[in-house]
Amino acid sequence: MSDIQELYRELIIDHGRRPRNFGVNAVANHIKEGFNPLCGDQLTIYLLEEGGVIRDIKFEGTGCAISIASASMMSELLKGKTIQQAEQIFNCFHQLVTQKTSDQDVESLGKLKVLAGVSQFPARVKCATLSWHTMMAAMHDRPEIVSTE
Ligand code: ZN
Repeated sequence: MSDIQELYRELIIDHGRRPRNFGVNAVANHIKEGFNPLCGDQLTIYLLEEGGVIRDIKFEGTGCAISIASASMMSELLKGKTIQQAEQIFNCFHQLVTQKTSDQDVESLGKLKVLAGVSQFPARVKCATLSWHTMMAAMHDRPEIVSTE
């Protein structure tokens, strides 16, 4: 295993075991649940949005290391961003993990780039994107419960 792969693996394990922004935001104004039945991941996103800016993101739930690490890193990255910026980052992340494009601008993703490896494992893509789909649904107050299936 190369040093880079080792670093990536450690980041995912670290965020999976000690997720950042884990918990409930009692004053959140957008709350959404998401499920990934294939793996058993489930989480709730608590978003506090003011004037189109993401003031706070918290999440809670249970899932595999990849789903929790992805939610943890997402919460760090999107805090302080506008809704529009968050959508652009979501699109970028989705392309990264599904490799729908060969010419990606992934610099905006920061350490989330470590999740690029899941593109090799289609079942894992759902783990990595669950928190993102749930976040998008929370931002837009979509009524349905998010499911990756
Ligand atoms: Zn999973």
